[in-house]
Order: sequence, then C-alpha cells, then structure tokens
Amino acid sequence: MQRLRSILLIALFCVLLLKLALQISLPHDWQTPLRIVIYPVNADGRHTTEQYIQALDAEHFSSIARFLHREAHRYQLDIAPVSVELGPMLAASPPLPPQQGNGAEYLNWSLKIRYWSWRNLPADSGDIRIYLRLFSPHHPARLAHSIGLKQGRIGLVNGYAAIDLQAQNNFVTAHELLHTLGASDKYDLNTRLPLFPEGYAEPQRQPALPQQQAEIMGGWIPVTIGHAVMPRGLDEAIIGKTTAHEIGW
Ligand SMILES: [Zn+2]
Repeated sequence: MQRLRSILLIALFCVLLLKLALQISLPHDWQTPLRIVIYPVNADGRHTTEQYIQALDAEHFSSIARFLHREAHRYQLDIAPVSVELGPMLAASPPLPPQQGNGAEYLNWSLKIRYWSWRNLPADSGDIRIYLRLFSPHHPARLAHSIGLKQGRIGLVNGYAAIDLQAQNNFVTAHELLHTLGASDKYDLNTRLPLFPEGYAEPQRQPALPQQQAEIMGGWIPVTIGHAVMPRGLDEAIIGKTTAHEIGW
C-alpha cells in the first residue's frame, strides 16, 4: 500500500513536471485585456526597503498601463490591453536564475520558478506575474539582469526602493512584461547599444542621431555613435513596429 502510494505520488509529480515543461504560452489574441499583477519582494532584507514596499500602491505603477494603452492606440487596437495591479509583498523570494548559466541550467531554473509560482501564488494570480525584487538605492553591487519568461508568463525584475527611481523600475517592468508576450531584445548584448533600425524609436529620423525616445526593447536612447542614455521613464519610450508585430499587434 505504502509502495503504491509512493509510485502514485512520483507519477503525479512527473505529470506535473511534464505539464510545466510543455507549458506553451500562445500569442495573446488581444480580444480581452491581460491582468498583470506585480508582487514586490524585499530583496535585501533592509528595513528601509520594507518601508518603501509598504508605502507602494497601484498608482506607483500606473505609467505601465498608460504606456501600453497609448501605444496600443497607435497600433489601432481598440481595447485597453492590460490592467496592472499591485499584489501582496511576498515573504520569500522566488528562485533566482543562474549567474552565468548554460541553456540547461536556465531551463532548469525556468521550470523551478514556474513550479514555485504554482506552489506559492493563488490560482487567480494574474495572466502575467511580475516579481519585483527591490533593493535599497545604497545597495553596493550592480543589480542583476531582469528577466521575462514567455513560458508561464513570469517576469523577474530587479529594481530600487526609491521613489525617484520608480519610473525607471516601471520602464524595466514594461520591458520584461513584453518579453513574456514574445518580444525580443533589440540591443547589442555586448555594447548594450540599441540595434538599428529595430531598436530605435524613430529609425527614419534624419539625421538618425540623437534620438529623442527609446524603443522599449532597444532599452536606451541612442544620442551619439557609441553612446546611449537610459530613458527617465515610459513617457520617453515607444513600442516600435518589430516589437508590435512580435506581440501580435
Ligand atoms: Zn530584455
């Protein structure tokens, strides 16, 4: 009896793993809005980070929905494409990606974070879940890369617990959530400069430099050859044609 129970449990676990591994996120049809829920995490355990999170409300993230509504309208989509909510602060951090892992290690982590989400979030936890890991602006090390996973539609965003950097947190969140919808990066992974033309907000501009805005997946505003600046927030960003096509707009 005991043995049968163990076999059944293992079989159930294998089915679950297989289900997670095969979890395919089909392109969204944009007939209905997507519900995005942001779950803050106190990533450095500091009291000031905790205080910042406790003072957050949905209004602090409103530029994300505003940006997507504005851009959807430019692409003749006649629904508000998303709603953005603030979820509760999580007591524990979701599993973190390998620092410099290979493909198999990333796949393993992607399974782990999806399993963790399934275990730790309620069933009604949003169409896209963003884990916003916040650090004190006095954090000594450079923040790790944020990641958006298409499978399972999960974003892991690293940001700063500081009101004057919240617009930047929202920019990174919008970038990662577009990854969860199938958008690709449009900057050079080595130089971090936006790729021409798809990573430019206005590639047809004459002269091409300086640009005035960032393409959201290009990540930066190119100003001179070899130099680009971080936009101050989503008011300085647009969704370019290639990104729009990738997400089904
Ligand atoms: Zn990216």
